[in-house]
Amino acid sequence: MTAELIDGKKIAQQMQAEIALEVADFTKRTGVIPCLYIVMVGDDPRSRTYVQRKMKALESVGMRHQFWHWLSWDEHGHGMLVDDIRHYCSLKWCHGMLVQLPLPPEYDPFPIFDAIAPEKDVDVFNPVNVGLLLQGRPRLKPCTPAGIVEMLKRSGINLPGKKVAVINRSNVVGKPLSSMLIQDCNEYANATVTICHNKTPPDLLKAITLSADIVVVAVGIAGFLTADMVRPGQVIVDVGTNHLPDTNKLVGDVDFGPVSEIVAAISPVPGGVGPMTVTMLLRNTLEAAKMQVQ
Ligand code: NAP
Repeated sequence: MTAELIDGKKIAQQMQAEIALEVADFTKRTGVIPCLYIVMVGDDPRSRTYVQRKMKALESVGMRHQFWHWLSWDEHGHGMLVDDIRHYCSLKWCHGMLVQLPLPPEYDPFPIFDAIAPEKDVDVFNPVNVGLLLQGRPRLKPCTPAGIVEMLKRSGINLPGKKVAVINRSNVVGKPLSSMLIQDCNEYANATVTICHNKTPPDLLKAITLSADIVVVAVGIAGFLTADMVRPGQVIVDVGTNHLPDTNKLVGDVDFGPVSEIVAAISPVPGGVGPMTVTMLLRNTLEAAKMQVQ
């Protein structure tokens, strides 16, 4: 492998140590321990694993969590869930509200996102927070996009003036990431961004990835970004999480072996964007508590 490894796991550990100090200071000054309410709808084993990882990380930096497992998703469940989210958001001790995705397909996510109080919206799904982000004045920054930006920044990879290809247009990754990357601010942005998706013709997609300085791929298909789609000097950020059918091994969207022989730097899966996302959730829970308590 010739590419430099972008070590998201190590950066996340450093950041979590910094956050733990800030939490201790906040709790000492205010007497308040920041608390995140986590809602999981349904019983997807992978969601369960992600939720457990988030709860462990919260504990490790001195914060609290309340896990709320919503198992009934019949025709009444959706409305009751929305009401309950509103109720829990009204509680003083709930500083952040996280709804673990994906939701069951029968659920319309938008009324659920609308019900999360903007000041407690640690994943930045409420339209008020999405609008503030788009205008370049976010209260909280969405976890996965902010984790990607912070990982690049702490790896010494500059964004201003760079051409970035983002293969994803979802509300979780592509849209918020592109709106962060294009902002004209001193805070590490000013990139030129092209967004690709399922309807981007393969030839055009390849031309875009080959012309980019940085490629962010988040399609959810193992081995999607192949060696013929990259060139020397590029930085590759792999967001995808895929479990191989025979071994259940976790892999990203990049055909890692061949691609890492060509490009300049690459973030691995596991150990790249995943730990950064969890770390930004910790950061947002603390920031949300600060906004409400101070
Ligand atoms: P999603 O909503 O399914 O989005 C997938 C995106 O990929 C869509 O925009 C889709 O285009 C695009 N796409 C699919 N096939 C394509 C193709 N052949 N060519 C070009 N674009 C294609 O999923 P998501 O929630 O954004 O997550 C994407 C991946 O990132 C998943 O593997 C997820 O597990 C992972 N993820 C990881 C983290 C982390 O912290 N590590 C966080 C979030 C997500 P259309 O919109 O046209 O369908």
